[in-house]
Amino acid sequence: MIVLDGKKTAQDLKEEIKITVSEIRKDGQRSPHLAAILVGNDGASLTYVGSKVRSCKYVGFNSTLIHLDESTSEEILLKKIIELNHDDELDGYIVQLPLPNHINEEKILLAIDPKKDVDGFHPSNFGRMALEMDAFIPATPFGIMELLERYQIETTGKHCVVIGRSHIVGRPISILMSQKGQAGNATVTVAHSRTQDLVSLTKNADIIVMALGIPEYLRADMIKKGVTVIDVGITRVADENHPKGYIIKGDVAYDEVAAKAAAITPVPGGVGPMTIAMLLKNTLIAFQRKN
Ligand code: NAD
Repeated sequence: MIVLDGKKTAQDLKEEIKITVSEIRKDGQRSPHLAAILVGNDGASLTYVGSKVRSCKYVGFNSTLIHLDESTSEEILLKKIIELNHDDELDGYIVQLPLPNHINEEKILLAIDPKKDVDGFHPSNFGRMALEMDAFIPATPFGIMELLERYQIETTGKHCVVIGRSHIVGRPISILMSQKGQAGNATVTVAHSRTQDLVSLTKNADIIVMALGIPEYLRADMIKKGVTVIDVGITRVADENHPKGYIIKGDVAYDEVAAKAAAITPVPGGVGPMTIAMLLKNTLIAFQRKN
């Protein structure tokens, strides 16, 4: 059984990006620059944004954190976005989701300049990705593809079952894995909350991507031997024995599934770190396209 080590692979990627940044600097150019807008104080969002900023520093990027109050109006946020769209010193930015309820998420995403949309959530990037044109690919599915490629997991002609149809993970990974190319050419089934007889699908799958957010949902009796399992799930489960008061669980009952699988991503240390590394990669791509 191979553990698809996202932590190590993400570190390798960061080292590669760091080298490219030092070459850019030697060439007399400024560093690539990523900004993040965070509205409010959601605990998980603060953690994610914090580690994105730290990763930027590590590879030598410039980074800007724009932390706005929970009560910030949609109008003020839109003004900030227009400002960032016009900032020539900025290559890419993200708006950390979820946004407070009084802000229309769709309106905000549509306002982002697709050329700076390093999260790849703008319809223009999503459409371009689906049409196999140059695009920013959302970081999580992009990270899964990178992991499959680097570990040379055979996907051609394989039956891949993706569980979850969200716009940021399930839907895009199903598109990418069915496209031509490395880590692609799979026959993909997308399952969701209305799918009937899910077990008949998972039992016949060669690759399973779990992206539903229900801790330890995939169990050993739902899979065949030799399957590759990608666990995207991140759920905070209360645990009073832990200093933080919670532990992180994936969508896979790791020990029992790993015992039957040919390859598997752990949680933590699998898809999560890859997501951050691919955000850096998208920022570098944005910089290179601009220059
Ligand atoms: P989401 O929460 O938007 O949607 C969940 C999906 O699961 C839906 O499409 C729904 O149809 C499906 N679903 C729910 N119950 C189901 C069931 N019983 N059977 C089959 N399908 C079912 O999804 P999301 O935003 O993609 O998040 C999924 C998980 O991935 C969450 O735990 C989230 O925290 C995590 N996540 C991790 C990363 C990362 O970097 N590792 C990135 C994004 C999301």
